[in-house]
Amino acid sequence: MRKPKYADEVLVERILASFRQVRPDKWVAATAADWQHVIRIESADENGNVQCVSCGRVVPYKQANGGHWIGRGRWATIFEPFNIHPQCVQCNRHDGDGTAKINYTLWMVDSYGLSLCEELLELAKAPRPSWTMEELAWRKLGYQKRIKEAEARLRGELASRTAT
Ligand SMILES: [Zn+2]
Repeated sequence: MRKPKYADEVLVERILASFRQVRPDKWVAATAADWQHVIRIESADENGNVQCVSCGRVVPYKQANGGHWIGRGRWATIFEPFNIHPQCVQCNRHDGDGTAKINYTLWMVDSYGLSLCEELLELAKAPRPSWTMEELAWRKLGYQKRIKEAEARLRGELASRTAT
């Protein structure tokens, strides 16, 4: 295995430097953005596509959103793996009549069962966790590493297909 170019501490220090420029709620938003990226890319098939949980449309992961079932405003569930899945932009951002959200809920119950959905709803009521800047920076670095690994997997799959 190749030695990493930078030690984790150096990478975390860079993230901390960027956090110091902005308000604390932005630290959560920036970390959540990487988490959404993790969900999209790790859900991607060998062609780099994901399926929208609301409408079933297949779209490139780069054009999809990581859609929260319980909204991002609820920090207690913002990083819960079961609470976030690929959605097309239409369903995630332009759900005027709420149909996409209803379909998302049906998909959740169908995929995980009602009791897990109820657990998530219960968890969402908890007060906002008070993460430290350092905790979020390490979390963000972990997500960035997962994104890099998934990018390597997708590149590898693409290369092996074009070689045959
Ligand atoms: Zn959709």
